[in-house]
Amino acid sequence: MSRRDEIADNLATVRSRIAGACSDVRRDPGEVRLVVVTKFFPVSDVRLLADLGVTDVGENRHQEAQAKVAECADLPLTWHFIGALQSNKAAAVASYSQVVEAVDRVKLVAPLARGARERATPLDCLLQVSLDPPQARGRAGADPEQLDELAAAVAEAGALRLRGLMAVAPLGEDPVAAFGRLGRIRQDFLTGHPAASWLSAGMSGDLEQAVRTGATHVRVGSAILGSRPRVK
Ligand SMILES: *Cc1c(COP(=O)(O)O)cnc(C)c1O
Repeated sequence: MSRRDEIADNLATVRSRIAGACSDVRRDPGEVRLVVVTKFFPVSDVRLLADLGVTDVGENRHQEAQAKVAECADLPLTWHFIGALQSNKAAAVASYSQVVEAVDRVKLVAPLARGARERATPLDCLLQVSLDPPQARGRAGADPEQLDELAAAVAEAGALRLRGLMAVAPLGEDPVAAFGRLGRIRQDFLTGHPAASWLSAGMSGDLEQAVRTGATHVRVGSAILGSRPRVK
């Protein structure tokens, strides 16, 4: 089977999983955007994805993302930065991404805005909220209590557009429970920020639960591209 056929088959499977989860909760599948996570995979795969109708791709490491965006400048893709963001890389990331999904602390806002001012259009930002217990190790994301302060900083920065929330279900916990908490956090958040209605949640293993909870974006890597080399 060619790489193209393999990716096409996997894409069809993932799209039907999304459609199935939407039909469970009577959502229109058109409300859920598929972001294919291309980290560790070559530009040739990104080109196949674009050719197969994928509109959104996600990367989580600055150097790899920057190189791929440059090599794919001819493709009509929306690039999502989904990884942990260092403040000294934030301005650069803002200059080539269309969506930054991992805004989890106020310190990132000024450099993101500085990078975003070089762009023709505002940078779409999602606040990453942590679903981990407060003392968890390697915790990524803001505490739910910090979201209002973070949202205010994004709104005041200029050049940034607050779009919504992003979360990752903790390893080792039932995603139904984790996304249940996320649904309540989002409901609270929407009362103060009704226009920030995007919700990026769900990956290869838990996208159905995320879609049933109201995700507007799912970030799917291995179910479409295969297993990644081990992260060092
Ligand atoms: C790698 C990654 C994904 C994709 O994970 P899969 O399990 O391969 O679908 C989604 N979200 C984030 C933040 C990631 O880093």
